[in-house]
Amino acid sequence: MKNKKERIVILGAGFGGFTLAKKLSGADYDVYLIDRHNFHQFQPLFYQVAMAGLEPSSIVFPLRKAFQNSKNITIRVAEIKAINTQEKLVETESEEIHYDHLVIATGAVTNYFNNDNFEKHSYSLKTVSEALAIRNDIFDDLEKAITTKSYDNRQQLIDIAIVGGGPTGVELAGALAELKKYILPKDYKELNADEVDIYLIQGGDRLLIGMSDEAGQKALKFLESLGVKVMLNTRVTDIDGSCIKTKDGQTIIANKVIWAAGITCEDIPGISKEYRQGRNQILINDQLEVEGLDDVYAIGDAAYLKTESMEYGHPQVAQVAIQMAHHMAKKFRKSNTKAFVYKDKGSMATIGRNKAVADLPWMTSAGFFAWVLWLLVHLASLIGFKNKLFVLINWMWNYLTYDQSLRLIIKPSKAKKQP
Ligand SMILES: Cc1cc2nc3c(=O)[nH]c(=O)nc-3n(C[C@H](O)[C@H](O)[C@H](O)COP(=O)(O)OP(=O)(O)OC[C@H]3O[C@@H](n4cnc5c(N)ncnc54)[C@H](O)[C@@H]3O)c2cc1C
Repeated sequence: MKNKKERIVILGAGFGGFTLAKKLSGADYDVYLIDRHNFHQFQPLFYQVAMAGLEPSSIVFPLRKAFQNSKNITIRVAEIKAINTQEKLVETESEEIHYDHLVIATGAVTNYFNNDNFEKHSYSLKTVSEALAIRNDIFDDLEKAITTKSYDNRQQLIDIAIVGGGPTGVELAGALAELKKYILPKDYKELNADEVDIYLIQGGDRLLIGMSDEAGQKALKFLESLGVKVMLNTRVTDIDGSCIKTKDGQTIIANKVIWAAGITCEDIPGISKEYRQGRNQILINDQLEVEGLDDVYAIGDAAYLKTESMEYGHPQVAQVAIQMAHHMAKKFRKSNTKAFVYKDKGSMATIGRNKAVADLPWMTSAGFFAWVLWLLVHLASLIGFKNKLFVLINWMWNYLTYDQSLRLIIKPSKAKKQP
C-alpha cells in the first residue's frame, strides 16, 4: 500500500504563507493553505488603491489560479476558528482539518489600543476592501462638498487626518497631497483645493521610527514641502466621527481619519496567552518552532523571534515573512536544522513623485534614486506578470499625465436575481 503523505497545514496566504506554499509545490507533502480571502494581497500598495492610483485587481492574486498546477496544494477559503494542538486539528467554520505540521502565518491586524471610538470612527488599511472603502468615501465626500455651503461642514468632508507616522502614514499623506495638488483643481473646479487640509499626526518626536533618523527628517521635509500638516509629539485622545481631540487640547475637524498607528495579532483559540509576546505575537525559537507545542511553527508578522541583535523581536515587514517562509520550506524539504538568520536588505518609504527615502545596508538615500529603487523593488515583488505589467503601465501613465484615472465610486449593491 502507498504511504500516506504527511500533511502541512498553512494558516494564512499572505507574504509568509503564500511563499511557503509556493516553495512546497511539488514537494512530497500534502499541503493545505487556508485563508479567509480567496486571494493573496500585496499590502505595501494598498495606499495606492486608497488614493485611486491603482485598481485593486492589480495588487491581488487569486489563490486557486496561483496553485492551478500544484497537485499537492489544497486551498481552503475559510475563517480559521480554532486550533486543537492535542488532536492536531484546525477548525474552520465548515470543517476540521488534520495536520502533521502546522505553520501559523496569520499576520497582524490594526491595533486600536482597546479604544472603541478609534475603531468605530476611523478607517483601517489592512485589506484591499478597506483601501477601496477609503477611495469611495474620499470621492463621495468631495462630491458632497461641492454643494455644501457652510465652510465648517465642508471642512469636515474634505479634510483628512492620518494617525501614525510610520511608512503607511507617510506614504498615504504623500499620495493624498499629490491628489490635492494635481487632481482636485482639474476634477473639482467648484472646490477650492487650498481648503483641503491633510494632517499627519504622530505620537513620537519624529517620523518613520523604524528607519534612520536621516530618513525620518527627509520624509518630514518632503511632506511639509507638499503642504501636509505634520503634527509631531501629538497623542490622539478621541475620535468622534466629526473631529479628533488631542492630548494637548487641539481639535481637528475631519470626518475621515485613517488609523495607521499600530498593529497587533488576533488571538486564535487553542494558542493560549503563555505562547504570546510582543504585539500579541506567537513566541518562537530560532527553528521557528512554538516551544512547548509539537509540530507547530509560526512565521511573519504573527511570530515573535527574539535574538541577540533583535532584542524586541523581528520587524513586522514582508522580507521577514518571506525569509522565514524560505527557511521553513528548506526545513521541510531538506530537513534543514540551521537557525533562522534574518538578512536585512533595507527599508524604504515613498512620499510622492520623485521622492522616497531608503535605508540601505551601506547608506541612506533620499530623493530620486530612492524613489526609482522603491518602484523597482515593489514591481519585482508583485505576484503575477499581468499585475506587474498593469502596475507599470499605471505608474507610467500617472507619471507622464499627472492624472491617474481611477477615481470611481463603486459600492457593492445587491444583485437582482433573474425571475
Ligand atoms: C498598508 C501596509 C503597508 C505596508 N508596507 C510595507 C512595505 O512597504 N514593506 C514591507 O516590508 N512591509 C510592509 N507592510 C507589512 C507587510 O505587509 C507585512 O509585514 C506582511 O504582510 C506580513 O506577512 P504575513 O504573511 O506574516 O502576514 P499577512 O501578509 O498579513 O497575511 C496574513 C494572512 O492571514 C489571513 N488570516 C488572518 N487571520 C485569519 C483567520 N482567522 N482566518 C483566515 N485567514 C486569516 C489574512 O487574510 C492574510 O491573508 C505593510 C503593511 C500594510 C498593512
